[in-house]
Amino acid sequence: SMEQLDPESDTAQALAYTHDAESTEHDQHQEGSHCLNCMLYSDPSAQEWGPCAVFPGKQVSANGWCTAWVAR
Ligand code: SF4
Repeated sequence: SMEQLDPESDTAQALAYTHDAESTEHDQHQEGSHCLNCMLYSDPSAQEWGPCAVFPGKQVSANGWCTAWVAR
């Protein structure tokens, strides 16, 4: 199975990725937005960890978030 994205990695930090959307204080975060309802989360049936088009080869948390979020 794919490795989980490390929030401390350069690629994750470049987009302010967090495993926990609700705890981010980023000013671009919109209430309720998280990976599971992001267009770039490529397998919406993956309810806990899933693939993201922005971070190939890694899994992101369904409850995560980053600045590339786009509404599904
Ligand atoms: Fe999550 Fe979307 Fe960012 Fe990928 S692009 S990490 S699915 S918010």
